[in-house]
Amino acid sequence: MSQLEMVDTLVIGSGPGGYVAALRSAQLGMKTSVVERSHLGGVCTHVGCIPSKALIAEAHRYDLHRQWSQADGSSFFQNAQAFKQGVVTKQAGGVNYLLKAAGVTILEGEACFIDEHTVAIKRTGTEQMISFKHAILATGSRPIELQALPFGERILSSTEALSLSQIPTSLIIIGGGYIGVELGQMYAKFGAEVTILEGGGQVLPGFEAELTAPVIRQLKADGINIVTGATAAKAEQHADTVTLHYLKNQEQHLISAEYALVTVGRKPNTDGSLGLERINLQVTSRGLIETDEQCRTAIPHIFAIGDITKGPSLAHKASYEAKVAAEVIAGKPSVLDYKAIPLVVFSEPELASVGLSETEANAESIPFVIGKSSFGINGRALALQAPEGFVKIIADQASGILIGAQIVGVEASTLISELTFAIEMGATVEDLSLTIHPHPTLGEVIMEAAENAVQKIRMNR
Ligand code: FAD
Repeated sequence: MSQLEMVDTLVIGSGPGGYVAALRSAQLGMKTSVVERSHLGGVCTHVGCIPSKALIAEAHRYDLHRQWSQADGSSFFQNAQAFKQGVVTKQAGGVNYLLKAAGVTILEGEACFIDEHTVAIKRTGTEQMISFKHAILATGSRPIELQALPFGERILSSTEALSLSQIPTSLIIIGGGYIGVELGQMYAKFGAEVTILEGGGQVLPGFEAELTAPVIRQLKADGINIVTGATAAKAEQHADTVTLHYLKNQEQHLISAEYALVTVGRKPNTDGSLGLERINLQVTSRGLIETDEQCRTAIPHIFAIGDITKGPSLAHKASYEAKVAAEVIAGKPSVLDYKAIPLVVFSEPELASVGLSETEANAESIPFVIGKSSFGINGRALALQAPEGFVKIIADQASGILIGAQIVGVEASTLISELTFAIEMGATVEDLSLTIHPHPTLGEVIMEAAENAVQKIRMNR
């Protein structure tokens, strides 16, 4: 065992929560170490956001390509996997460079709490003790495994689904949330026969039906079979296929495919050898760590961020919390404000939301107006052959302040940032409508939706 080292901030986990926390902590002058048991950059870089978006982009390229020529799917896919791996390696290299440049010490191994100020870092055959004034827990999450569908050769989690060496001929996806929809559409575009089984009444639960409608239309156009109200009961794994039994309308159904992919959510990494019980840090029934508005746990010098805390499991939410936690440790008065966390589905067409939805504004009994405008009348969208979708803006009736926005359509993932900024700044729909947007651009649809809301506010006065 090596000598006890002391740091100001010890960050456990190097995903978008952990590495951003470590960077901020070091930038603020604190002696900082980050511990990682697997790969620098975490789930997001290696088996989440980055590889999925690289493959999705390649799937779109393939889909376009095969409209023009007889593309060889198999070799295209192998190149796509190699491209994806290159993107992941570059991104992970970037994280490594940033941490080292900021003076953060990177420790490889698994962190296990010994007491409230000491962690053991275990690596095959070695154990290093490190003591800290403050710790930031950013241990992230892993795919939920269903008892009836244990992961194996034929039943995959998103991790394996992102690393297949061949395009599957057929794929059953259990769970129609954003990960299931993104990966399902990606494989459908590569030519796989895809079925999505969703337990609820619609895929992408949580989004209003008018927003999901254009996405569902495209999923069906891509040949995806969507079965809602379906509960997976059990599966039989064979040499080359898997047969799934599911219930719909109290009837048993059978479906077979080359693979099943389970995307029913993620489980926080707060169990196992991390040893939270040794410091008496409780978790909720879902395994989450409770924190206050400064990311502080019940132990005042230990903070928790990202997928192990409440709220959406999103990389940018983890990074946002990371900055707040590091700043609070440095003595700054930072406080979380979740009113503008954007949420994006990288489907075709893309779907993005920020702030309140119409349903949420109704539930809160806020008098509001809705402004809408369609991509179908936008010159740039027409030129891009992407006229599907619209921008929906929700504004407080009395003040005109923007309280929510949703976009379904081309580049919704990029466009939502303008609306996120507007909500963050307390902008009114008049501010948005008076902002000169370059022509011809997709952003003009936002300006027009805002104008529509302004007119409604005036009419209601
Ligand atoms: P993680 O990224 O999970 O990182 C935690 C790290 O901690 C891991 O590297 C782990 O090895 C390490 N660790 C755990 N325990 C220990 C220990 N005891 N000692 C040392 N190290 C430890 N989010 C988006 O915002 N946009 C997207 O487009 C998006 N797409 C996704 C697609 C897929 C397929 C998946 C699976 C997820 C996607 N996400 C996306 C979610 C996003 O990846 C997570 O929300 C994000 O990675 C959470 O960051 P984190 O820092 O909390 O944890």
